[in-house]
Amino acid sequence: MSDSIIEAGKVVFFHYTLTNDAGETIDSSRGGNPLPYLHGAGNIVPGLEKQLTGKAVGDKLQAAVAPEEGYGVRHGHPMPVPRDQFPQDVDIQPGMQFFAQDPDGNQFPLWIAEVTDETVTVDPNHPLAGENLNFDVEIVSIRDASDEEKEHGHPHLPGMHHH
Ligand code: ZN
Repeated sequence: MSDSIIEAGKVVFFHYTLTNDAGETIDSSRGGNPLPYLHGAGNIVPGLEKQLTGKAVGDKLQAAVAPEEGYGVRHGHPMPVPRDQFPQDVDIQPGMQFFAQDPDGNQFPLWIAEVTDETVTVDPNHPLAGENLNFDVEIVSIRDASDEEKEHGHPHLPGMHHH
């Protein structure tokens, strides 16, 4: 079936296991549901999206992704910020991402690295920045995206109505 090739405008479900260069498993979809994404919409890291282009259902591949096409190279340093500068009603956890504003009003992302009662350590780097990402991938299914999905830039799943 020629329509089952991964290209822009397809919703793809795939299983993956992500390991770092030390061979440690960072994340895996196996044992759970395959991960859905809309191809061409930047839902997944660019280096993986690129290597999935043209693949078909049942294809398996090892995709190595350098930091430049993954979560970026590391820049800047983690910085402690007083806890009371964050909203008290938000349960701040390591790994959470939020957006801050520089004096010119430009938004930039920060990740929570560490939380204590007094201090929140924020990092300008994604937790996986600077890492080579090694994906072990199997394509589970491919379908055409709906017009609404293309408009939103992400897949819609049954029972998912939060936007
Ligand atoms: Zn949506």
